[in-house]
Amino acid sequence: MLEIEELTTTYGPVRAVDRVSISVEPGAITAVLGANGAGKSTLLRTISGLVRARSGRIMMSGTDITRMPAELTVRRGLALVPEGGGVITELTVAENLRLGALWRGDRADRARALREVCELFPPLASRLARPASTLSGGERQMLAIGRALMSRPRLLLLDEPSLGLAPMITARIMQVLRDLRASTGLTVLLVEQNARSALSIADTGMVLALGQVVMAAPAGTLLTDETLRHAYLGF
Ligand code: ATP
Repeated sequence: MLEIEELTTTYGPVRAVDRVSISVEPGAITAVLGANGAGKSTLLRTISGLVRARSGRIMMSGTDITRMPAELTVRRGLALVPEGGGVITELTVAENLRLGALWRGDRADRARALREVCELFPPLASRLARPASTLSGGERQMLAIGRALMSRPRLLLLDEPSLGLAPMITARIMQVLRDLRASTGLTVLLVEQNARSALSIADTGMVLALGQVVMAAPAGTLLTDETLRHAYLGF
C-alpha cells in the first residue's frame, strides 16, 4: 500500500524527516512514535502532499505520489486527520463532514458515506445541525476522523488523535480504527505520543528520533520487551 524510500524533508537547515524508509502492507496499522519534534507530523504532511519532499520516494499502490499535491493524493485514496483535527468550528457538523467528500461527484455516494460515518460515530448523528464549536474535544476528534472517512480513503493518516482526550474516548477511537480495518481493510498510519494505546491496535510500531527511524518492531514485541520499551518509549 505504501512504500517510502529514503524520504527527506527539510525546513531550511532542519532535516525534519531524514532518510526515512517504511513499507506498509494493505490493511496494516502502523504506529509512528517518538518525542515532540521527532518529525512525525512532517512525515504525515509529506506523504499527504502538504509539504514537499526534498528527496526520496513515496509510492502508494504502485503509483509515485512523492510530489503529488494534497488535492490529488486524496483522490487516490489517501486522507489525513491533522493534529488537532482541523475542524471548522463556524460550520455545522454536517457541513464539516460534507467538506470531506466535496470533490466526489456522486450525490448518492456522498449521502451513503454520511450515513456510514453517523453509524460509526453516533454522537455525530444526533448533532448534525449544530455548529462544530458546540462539540466536546472527543466529538471534535470523531468529526475530524469522520470527515476524512467521507472521502472513502484506503490509507488513513492520523496525527495524534488522542491528544487531550480522556482515556475512555481514546479507547473508543482506537476501537473504531480497529473495526474499520476489519470491515473495510483500511490501512492506517497512526502518529501518537500515547505509545501504549497506539500499540494496542497496531501491527507494527516504529520510533522516530531527530527525523530518523531508530527502531521498528512488531507492536506486540514493543509492548512486551521491557528493554525496548525503556529505551525507546519511556515506560
Ligand atoms: P510534535 O509531536 O511536537 O508535533 P513531531 O514529531 O510531529 O512533533 P514535527 O512537527 O514534524 O515533529 O517537527 C520536526 C522538526 O521540524 C522540529 O525540529 C520542528 O521544530 C521543525 N518544524 C516543524 N514544522 C516546521 C516549520 N513549519 N518550519 C520550520 N521548522 C519546522
